[in-house]
Amino acid sequence: MYTHEAVEICPHCMFEHYEKDWNPNKGYRVTCMNCEESILLCDECSHAEDNQERFCDWERETCKCFRDLKVCYNKDNKRR
Ligand SMILES: [Zn+2]
Ligand SMILES: [Zn+2]
Repeated sequence: MYTHEAVEICPHCMFEHYEKDWNPNKGYRVTCMNCEESILLCDECSHAEDNQERFCDWERETCKCFRDLKVCYNKDNKRR
């Protein structure tokens, strides 16, 4: 499993948040260590092995990208 230190600039406070020993199984949604807002590791998102096209549709307004939609979708399936 590909594990490394993931770094992402928090869009809320511009702090350089990092996750030690991160891998895709831990998920892309993390909490900023500075302002504690929920953020996405979209630098990882666009460099992931399952994302050859480097696609990420992160929006500043919603602070969501397709990784989040996948998580929501899975949760909905479990409830049924
Ligand atoms: Zn922050
Ligand atoms: Zn993303």
